[in-house]
Amino acid sequence: LNTDKNSQSAADKEFENNIRPREIIDFAGQGQIIENLKIFIKAAKMRDEALDHILFHGPPGLGKTTLSRIVANELGVQIKETSGPVIEKPGDLAGLLTNLEPHDVLFIDEIHRLSTVVEEYLYAAMEDYRLDIMIDSGPNARSIQINLNPFTLIGATTRSGLLTAPLLSRFGIKSRLEYYHADTLKQIVLRSSGILNTKITSDAAAEIARRSRGTPRIANGLLRRVRDFAQVLGNGVIDLGITQHALKALNVDEHGLDEMDNRILNTIIEKFKGGPVGITTIATAVGEETGTLEEVYEPFLIQEGFIKRTPRGREATQKAYEHLGKDLRTGGAQ
Ligand code: ADP
Repeated sequence: LNTDKNSQSAADKEFENNIRPREIIDFAGQGQIIENLKIFIKAAKMRDEALDHILFHGPPGLGKTTLSRIVANELGVQIKETSGPVIEKPGDLAGLLTNLEPHDVLFIDEIHRLSTVVEEYLYAAMEDYRLDIMIDSGPNARSIQINLNPFTLIGATTRSGLLTAPLLSRFGIKSRLEYYHADTLKQIVLRSSGILNTKITSDAAAEIARRSRGTPRIANGLLRRVRDFAQVLGNGVIDLGITQHALKALNVDEHGLDEMDNRILNTIIEKFKGGPVGITTIATAVGEETGTLEEVYEPFLIQEGFIKRTPRGREATQKAYEHLGKDLRTGGAQ
């Protein structure tokens, strides 16, 4: 299943926007982050100041974009959305920043993909609401200063490890979004079904939640597909039977692991006798960047008890062996 926003179809995006919570009270989970944000938002409003810059980091589909829009909504300001790779030149950034009204939010998704030049212009903008733009070149080169309205930058990234220290230090608020517990995901599934006007039983919602890799985007995506099965093969109501049938037909893993998760576990068990093995070695073997493994895949596998971190590297647990139907004692043989 696709968790990558950049490769979603227009229909996926439209579906996602339809069921996206717009109010803070509809945003499930992430309790501590929400409680803190409420305080910071209230304080900024009381002082009539722009809210401090915020960085939301964490794996894809956990609600970084949703939360950014909610923050703007709570502040009662406009949000302009863009992403790191889209801002190619300092002029693009200047265009965005000079169009902001006081206290507006500028949302930059995939902020780790900003070019170095653009990033350097962003420093003064974030710190002093000011842009120093160089115009002309050679002997005519001179810098002009543009004063900006006070604004809030909200950056989102799945790869906070790639952010430079100067950029990181300019965010007053940094929040890491965590994977959702199955009962929170169940609430999200029930709410989405309501918006879709689809009836779903409680055990079916729990089943979808349990198999969604702790991720609202996956839960909503599965709900949408299961709904198709219920409509065509049943009477439109999503019950446990139709859900299990659909998830099987869709090849959805019993524990909600995705293809890469399973490849990682398989690699540790088959190629490295269950570990311990270094993360870089695993990364090379599965053809993924070390940082992506560390920031996107591994946290879920550790949280769910499929791998352990030891001083000598990563180890597959008994649960991983069982999940892949392998025998721990024979080191991976069936
Ligand atoms: P990210 O920006 O982290 O990749 P999004 O904010 O785009 O994730 O969220 C993906 C989808 O999941 C959205 O359609 C939204 O409806 C849903 N979603 C995310 N977090 C929550 C939440 N806490 N409560 C309800 N729905 C959520």
